[in-house]
Amino acid sequence: MRICNTIVDMRGACRAARSGGKRLGFVATMGALHEGHLSLVRAAKAACDVVAASIFVNPTQFGPTEDLAKYPRTFERDQQLLEKEGVELLFAPSVEEMYPAKAVTWVTVDGLSDRLDGRSRPGHFRGVATVVAKLFHVVEPDAAFFGQKDAAQVAIIRRMVRDLNFPVEIVACPIVREPDGLAMSSRNAYLDSQQRKQALALHRSLMRVKKMWEGGQRAAEKLVTAGCEELAAEKSVRLDYFEIVDPDGLDPVRNVSKGALVAVAAFVGTTRLIDNIQL
Ligand code: AMP
Repeated sequence: MRICNTIVDMRGACRAARSGGKRLGFVATMGALHEGHLSLVRAAKAACDVVAASIFVNPTQFGPTEDLAKYPRTFERDQQLLEKEGVELLFAPSVEEMYPAKAVTWVTVDGLSDRLDGRSRPGHFRGVATVVAKLFHVVEPDAAFFGQKDAAQVAIIRRMVRDLNFPVEIVACPIVREPDGLAMSSRNAYLDSQQRKQALALHRSLMRVKKMWEGGQRAAEKLVTAGCEELAAEKSVRLDYFEIVDPDGLDPVRNVSKGALVAVAAFVGTTRLIDNIQL
């Protein structure tokens, strides 16, 4: 696996990798890799001839009071995992490399950027869209693989790619969970053993909504109330949002039909976790 730290180096390596019409797949990550990330790599390996990944803890998607400084950084281990999965190219730039001084250009996906996590984390999706646009310009992938775990992020990137004519196919991959249902996340590392149990309330709340919906309940208001109740039963978990939205535009729905996205975010201690299901 070749590791590139500069944009020039990575762009050259990716162009060489695509020569002769080879299909280049790309997986963007912030490191602290787990099976969720690796599932994206495997999907990329299955669908493409060459796979590139990136590890970059993107400062512009963190709010001023968020966990940028303490975000887990495990580069050596991540590198080994990616190598084992057969990733050919790894981009690991510094913050200075990605954001030269005096950069003032941003990508904002109006409307969508203010929904779900964007409402509780102002500026988050501007940071995400901007860094993903920059990474796409560096890597120039034929296909890019994202996790459905960050469902709003998938919707926003799809819209950006459509609106700005990026020549890349966006592939969304299913959420990888721990055996007890907890969605894998680099932030799960912050949880102590008690919080780890409490965190299951997120998945439970989604399962309760799914069961009610399968039982015929279609009123979003009733379903959301039930989901919130389930979360409230775990006293130490603090709800951020519980919403049922259309998965493309992220608009709340009133009458819940097949394909609707049920999304939850909650704090367990100081750790903010998200999860979702598509009905
Ligand atoms: P992150 O390192 O958190 O920025 O995530 C990098 C990519 O991995 C994103 O596309 C995430 O949606 C995806 N991802 C994170 N956790 C999971 C998971 N549990 N299952 C599937 N994909 C995931």
